[in-house]
Amino acid sequence: SPGLYIVATPIGNLGDITLRAVETLRGVSAVACEDTRVTGKLLHHLGIKQRMIRYDDHAGKGDRERLLALMESEPVALVSDAGTPLISDPGYRLVRTARERGIAVTSLPGANAAVMAMTLSGLPNDRFLFAGFLPNKARAREGVLADLAEVPATLIFYETAPRLEDSLLAIDSVLPGREVAVARELTKKFEECRSGTPQDLIAHYAAHPPKGEIVLLVAPPGDEPLGEVDVDALLRSALEQAKP
Ligand code: SAM
Repeated sequence: SPGLYIVATPIGNLGDITLRAVETLRGVSAVACEDTRVTGKLLHHLGIKQRMIRYDDHAGKGDRERLLALMESEPVALVSDAGTPLISDPGYRLVRTARERGIAVTSLPGANAAVMAMTLSGLPNDRFLFAGFLPNKARAREGVLADLAEVPATLIFYETAPRLEDSLLAIDSVLPGREVAVARELTKKFEECRSGTPQDLIAHYAAHPPKGEIVLLVAPPGDEPLGEVDVDALLRSALEQAKP
């Protein structure tokens, strides 16, 4: 039936797409996407021939109105290049306007780099705060980190390889003593997730320059890293207690 279908697509491994997503991409009248080459490849892989309509960060009101008009009478899917649309990807205004106009909107859940990194990192997951990309400029980046300093939750950032070192340095200076984790190339051949102090990870990535896509996580305040020192302290206090 007509409306907007927000469809999550893989973040690397093409197997990570749901049966319902495939059915929906096959069944809609058009697929709105960021980059027709990227989505074209996915559709080709799935054996789907579809009309694609570009809808990216530069889309203006005109592009949006054309899509909205179409979804009044036809089913239209929205995908992004990878993962869940709207999560650091286009679609917010489209969804908001569709809802305001009473157009049916539904979302087909699937891959998301932030959630996958959270599950892998070993950091506390009872509360987490997704904070998108840190700003490029040093001052603004430090400002954002300072604003988040007291948040009692694991912080999740999207990151890129060339900026990783600067972000780790900023975390080390603005949020000292926090354990961090770097989740890289998730669902792909060289997937890895490393944790430690910012200094540990700076040293590691100085020796092994990071490539590919990255999620950066920061432990909540007061959550001591499980370093050797802490293990020693725990053992000592256990021994103290065991004394007759
Ligand atoms: N909408 C996407 C999602 O649901 O995860 C995120 C899109 S955002 C433009 C791209 C960023 O997501 C990358 O810079 C990286 O931080 C993260 N990302 C996407 N795929 C990833 C992967 N396979 N491994 C690690 N991070 C990934």
